[in-house]
Amino acid sequence: MDGKVTAVVLAAGRGRRMESRIQKQYLQLAGRPLICYALEAFQKSGVDEIILVTGAGEEEFCRREIVAACGFSKVAAIVPGGKERYHSVYEGLKAAAGSDYVLIHDGARPCVTEEIIQAAIDGARKYKACVIAMPVKDTIKVADEQEFARETPDRSRLWMIQTPQAFSYPLVYDAYDRMLSGGGDQHGITDDAMVVERMTGEKVRLIRGSYENIKVTTPEDLAVAEVFLRRILGKT
Ligand code: C5P
Repeated sequence: MDGKVTAVVLAAGRGRRMESRIQKQYLQLAGRPLICYALEAFQKSGVDEIILVTGAGEEEFCRREIVAACGFSKVAAIVPGGKERYHSVYEGLKAAAGSDYVLIHDGARPCVTEEIIQAAIDGARKYKACVIAMPVKDTIKVADEQEFARETPDRSRLWMIQTPQAFSYPLVYDAYDRMLSGGGDQHGITDDAMVVERMTGEKVRLIRGSYENIKVTTPEDLAVAEVFLRRILGKT
């Protein structure tokens, strides 16, 4: 009655900044592959289906070793991603056809919780476009080409943007489709809200998540994520 909600979980990145032979989504974290934690949170959440986007050729491995092994029954499809994150998102969105709302999540954010997912679902229903985010704690400066400080934006207006990013499905699908099939400007796209802002002009609402919802990017992030996860999962 409230509309079908699908989560697109992204795990098709190469993770070069992790400096590891094993891809970061499969690295062990508190005893399980990193990608399992985000999938577990979505499995327990109010979303109806999950689309897992993985590296080309890794679909069967994921189906067997991750999805079947952990019993993630909401995973409706495993599809190969693309070169850039936005290519992977587009593949996930195509596989989510028929949904009313879609949540796009970085599989590299294992500390996402059911509460954050529910806030994103509620935000999508209310605003059509929202992102989970937190106010920045540090002062942020914009640098010039020689790495001298050029300006210091008002900190009280600056937010760190996380995932899930949640949208009305037709809105975000149309934005991606027009950008990728219609030759829209793809320069500097680092998140989904940018695609919606650039292609539709729809306003995107910022919704508070948690400072623990970090993206595991470099080796030291793994240790931090493990501390947060043990606390979230009550394993301390
Ligand atoms: O590269 P970055 O850290 O921004 O990646 C964020 C998320 O997007 C990760 O979960 C990564 O696996 C995913 N990604 C993807 N396809 C790409 C690049 C990144 O699914 N081509």
